[in-house]
Formats: sequence, C-alpha cells, structure tokens
Amino acid sequence: MAVDRISQLVVKVKGISAIVVVSLLLNYLAGNSLHRCTDQFWSNSALVCQRLWVAVLAYFHQDESLVSIVGSTIYTMGIFWSLNLFLTVLDLTGRPAAILRYKIQPDKNCPLTHTDLWRAVKVAVFNQTIVGVPFLCGLHIMMKRRGCSWSPEELPTATQALLEMAVFVFVEEISFYYAHRMLHHPRLYKHIHKKHHEWTAPIGIVSIYAHPVEHIFANLLPPALGPILMGSHMATAWLWWGVAILSTTIDHGGYRLPWFLSPDFHDYHHLKFNTNYGVIGLLDRLHGTDALFRKHISGETEADLKENNMADTGSKMKIG
Ligand SMILES: [Zn+2]
Ligand SMILES: [Zn+2]
Repeated sequence: MAVDRISQLVVKVKGISAIVVVSLLLNYLAGNSLHRCTDQFWSNSALVCQRLWVAVLAYFHQDESLVSIVGSTIYTMGIFWSLNLFLTVLDLTGRPAAILRYKIQPDKNCPLTHTDLWRAVKVAVFNQTIVGVPFLCGLHIMMKRRGCSWSPEELPTATQALLEMAVFVFVEEISFYYAHRMLHHPRLYKHIHKKHHEWTAPIGIVSIYAHPVEHIFANLLPPALGPILMGSHMATAWLWWGVAILSTTIDHGGYRLPWFLSPDFHDYHHLKFNTNYGVIGLLDRLHGTDALFRKHISGETEADLKENNMADTGSKMKIG
C-alpha cells in the first residue's frame, strides 16, 4: 500500500512538474513573441509615421509655416468632414437604419432638415477658415518661439507622444472647463454661447457651431495649449488634434454607439444647459457640476433633485 501511495505521489509530482514546465515554456514563448510583436508593431508604426511626415513636408516644400497653416487646415477639415459626412447621411436619410436605435434624443433632428444642415455647415466652414486660419498663423509663431520641431529626424517616440497626449488631455480639460463655465455667465451667454446652445439635440457638425469668440477660446485654444506648453513636435500636435476632433464630433453626434465613446455627457449639457461643462468630467466631478447628470444616469429624475435641493435649502434656512 505504501509503495502504491509513493508511486501515485511520484506520478502526481511528475504531472504537476510537467504542467509547470510546459506553462513556463509557453509563457516564455508567448511573452517573447508578444514582445516581438509589440516591438515590431511600434517600429512599423514609427516607420509609417516617419514616411507620412516626410511626405507631408515634401508636399509643402519643407516650408514649416505652410505645414502649420495650410497643412493643419486641410488635415483638420479632412478629419472633421470625413466623420461628419457619414453622420450627416445618417441624420438626413436614417440609413443605415440599424444605427438609428442608438440615437440619444430620437424625437429631435430625425430626420435632419436641409435648412438646419445648411445653417450648421455655413457656421462650421466660416469657423474653420475665416477664424481658423488666422488662429493657425498665430499658433505657428507661438510654436516657433516655444522651440517646437517640424523635422522628421526629431519625431517623438511612441512613449513620448503618448505621455504628451496624456498631458494634453488634462490641459484641455482645465482650459475648456473654465472657458465654458465663463461662457455660461449670463452676460457672456446671451451674446456668445447662446449660439452653440441653439441645438438642444446636437449633430456632429455642431461641435464647431459657435460664435467666433467662443470658437477661439473654447474650441481652438484648449487643444492648442498642450503642444505649446510641452514644446511638442508638430506631428504630435497633429495626432492630438485628430483625436480631439473625432472626440468632440462624437460628443455632439447624438448617437450612443456600442463599443464607442459615449456622447451622453455633453449631449446632456445641450439638453439641460447648466451641467457637465468639461470634456472628460474630471473638473465637473471636482466642482459638483455633474450632480444632475449623475442623478439622471442613476435613474433619478430632475424633479427629485430639485425636491432634494429645496429640502436642503429649507433645512439650512431652518438651521440658520
Ligand atoms: Zn456642445
Ligand atoms: Zn454650454
């Protein structure tokens, strides 16, 4: 019996050892191949980025100011109108129909009228050209003074670009939040920000449907400040602006698509006005300006919140 137990134990130990050895081997091989794949991916991406940037510079005859002003205008408009073309077709025709069920406010702008579309397009193009081009001229001067680079030899590594992008997100959140809150001051609101809020159920193009002053201080400056602050490469700035344009277009798009960034936060700002002023929600959480939205998503109604506020005020008055 004792021999049987010993032989069973030996078999078990051998089995466990084999499993551990095979697991370690597989882990090592998988880890190595994963690292190789990751390294390969980044080196390939870096090569593609470098070639693209060389092509951009060659297209503009190595003229940095042309890249900053004309190149940035074409690039940002290209990204903006590509995504908005898809969203506009969807808003006008209701096709592809499968996406319509994801509309956040299905009773508004569904279908979008040609009059409203044209109204939005005119303001957007005005802001991208008449307001945007002079802004880019000023930004080019600022970036030159800050020591930013345009050279393909000085392109950032992926890690550096990602770290800078993380800083840009926070810089944008801070600058946009306070600019936006100022725009909601009654004196500024009626003359400037009211225009953007003509759309209680926004569409993608409405992300830049704004008074020129608002377009400069709330739409153009917040994403431009990060690259100036960090002295970033122009290619990093382009990457960031692309992300920022896609993000704000989705925020105004009006569709809550699965597996996508949720636009609910800013859509709710257009619906209710005095809530959700920021981009990522960090400062709204800090200042408590997302209270209504949090109640809304937790299933409570606005009436409940008002009731609570009144009860709070009542109790404070009684205490005082
Ligand atoms: Zn908006
Ligand atoms: Zn607002």
